[in-house]
Amino acid sequence: MVAQYYWVLRAVVKQKPHLRESLTRCRHCRILFLTHPRNAGRRDLRCPFGCREAHRRYQSTKRSTEYYRTKEGKGKKSDLNARRCAKDQRCKHAKDAEKEKNHCKDLQAPLDEPTLSYLQTVTSLIEARTVCRKEIIRLVNTILRQHRIDQSLKLLYTVKNCRAKPP
Ligand SMILES: [Zn+2]
Repeated sequence: MVAQYYWVLRAVVKQKPHLRESLTRCRHCRILFLTHPRNAGRRDLRCPFGCREAHRRYQSTKRSTEYYRTKEGKGKKSDLNARRCAKDQRCKHAKDAEKEKNHCKDLQAPLDEPTLSYLQTVTSLIEARTVCRKEIIRLVNTILRQHRIDQSLKLLYTVKNCRAKPP
């Protein structure tokens, strides 16, 4: 998988040599990835394949743990717990509404947010224009659909071959 990824990345950079400046290494897992030109040259970035997300989660947990340890935070926490029930209910409604909206537009995101965001950055860099999120989602959906068709054809072909040559 990583070899395949590097193969594509090399091919892209070979075709668009100016993107070489946007190449950066994840400070955590050391994988190479393309970043937005405004971040070119930075060495403190984490990759969008999990490290960035993991770090964000870690920081956020650390922040809230530190906050709730303070006196002010301790008071807030009991308030929060009381309000949580009501909020959970509201969140559920908001989520349902969003699901409905996505469903109507047939734009269900096929991948997680960091991956989509990375695809958006890289595609925009390659095409030298701003590619919007909807385009990315449609593109990924098309590729996945094609992949499923290919898989089915392969399966059909195998079945047909098995029949053609009985053991
Ligand atoms: Zn990483």
